[in-house]
Amino acid sequence: MRAFTYERASDPVQAARIVAERPGAKFLAGGTNLLDLMKLEIETPTHLVDVQDLRLDRIEETREGGLRIGALVTNTDLAADRRVRSDYQVLTKAIVAGASGQLRNKATTAGNLMQRTRCPYFYDPNMPCNKRRPGSGCAAIGGYSRQLAVIGSSDQCIATHPSDMAVAMRVLDAAVETVRSDGAARSIPIAEFHRLPGETPQVETVLQPGELITAVTLPKPIGGRHFYEKVRDRASYAFAVVSVAAVIGRDGRGRVALGGVAHKPWRVEAAEAALPQGAKAVTASLLAGARPTTHNAFKLPLAERTLAAVISQARHS
Ligand SMILES: Cc1cc2nc3c(=O)[nH]c(=O)nc-3n(C[C@H](O)[C@H](O)[C@H](O)COP(=O)(O)OP(=O)(O)OC[C@H]3O[C@@H](n4cnc5c(N)ncnc54)[C@H](O)[C@@H]3O)c2cc1C
Ligand code: SF4
Repeated sequence: MRAFTYERASDPVQAARIVAERPGAKFLAGGTNLLDLMKLEIETPTHLVDVQDLRLDRIEETREGGLRIGALVTNTDLAADRRVRSDYQVLTKAIVAGASGQLRNKATTAGNLMQRTRCPYFYDPNMPCNKRRPGSGCAAIGGYSRQLAVIGSSDQCIATHPSDMAVAMRVLDAAVETVRSDGAARSIPIAEFHRLPGETPQVETVLQPGELITAVTLPKPIGGRHFYEKVRDRASYAFAVVSVAAVIGRDGRGRVALGGVAHKPWRVEAAEAALPQGAKAVTASLLAGARPTTHNAFKLPLAERTLAAVISQARHS
C-alpha cells in the first residue's frame, strides 16, 4: 500500500472542499472497497478524508411521504429499517443478498453506490485495463468475460456495476443528493447517476471532483409485491451473475431492473408495459441491442428465466 495522509472531516462542505482542492484526495466511508483497492495499489489516494463524523447516518421521512437515507447509513441498518422492510422491501431483499453480515455492518449507502467493478482484469495490475489505466486497452474483450456486461458496453470496456442495492434503488426511482465544494447541493436521479463506459470507462458517475453524496431519497411507496432474485455462482458471498429487481402489482403491471448485465443498473421503462405478457416480451425489449460475448451470451436466457420466475411468484403469491 502506498503512503497516504488521513483526516476526519466535521462538516460536509469542508469535506467536499478538501477533496476538490487536493489532488489525490478521496472520501473514506466504511472502507470495505476502497481499502481493498489501496492494498492492491489499484487506488492510490494520497489523502483520505474520513466522512464518518458528518452526521449523515439517519433515515428520515420526507415531506413527500418518502424516505431520506443518509449517505453514512450502513447497509445493515438500511435493510433492517422498519419502514424499508414494510414499504421498500425490494431494497431490503437486495441488500441482504449482497456481501456478508460483517461487510454490511461497515458498508455505507454512498460507498455501495460508488463501489468499483469486480471485473477480474481491473483487479489485476499486470493486465491492460482502460478503467484502471486509461488508454492501456481492455483485457476482458477477447479474454475471459463470463461475469461481464451484455448490454450498454463499449469497445473500451465491458465491465458491470456490482452493486445489488443500486438495482433496487433504480426500480424505486431513488435520487442521489450531493453537496459540492462551493456549498451547492443537487439531486441526481439514480437513472442518471452511473454512466455507461463509452470512451471514458474510468469516469463512472456524474459526480464532479470533490462532490460528496449526502443522502439518497426514495419517493413515496408504490405498493405492489417486491422481489429481488439474484443468480450467482455460490449461494452466498458472491456477486450477481444476473439479478432482477421488480415491483409487481395485482394486475401484473409493474417495474423491473436488471443487475449483473451492464455498467449500471439496467432499466428501460418502455419495456415494462410488456410485463403482463410475460418475461420473454419484457426482455425482448429490455435487452434489445445486447452485444454479449461467447462467454456470457448465457446471461440473456438467464435474465429471461429469472424474470419469468419472479413473474410466476407474483402471480401465485
Ligand atoms: C468480499 C466482498 C463481497 C462483496 N459482495 C457484495 C455483493 O454481493 N453485492 C454488493 O452490492 N456489494 C458487495 N460487496 C461490496 C460492498 O458492498 C462495498 O464494498 C461497500 O458497499 C462499499 O461501501 P463502503 O462504505 O465500505 O465504501 P468505501 O470503501 O469507504 O468507499 C467506496 C468508494 O466510495 C467513495 N465514497 C464513500 N462515501 C462517499 C460519499 N459520501 N460521497 C462520495 N463518494 C463516497 C469512496 O471515496 C470510494 O471511492 C462486497 C465486498 C466484499 C469485500
Ligand atoms: S472490461 Fe473494463 S474494467 Fe474490465 S479490463 Fe476491460 S476496461 Fe478494464
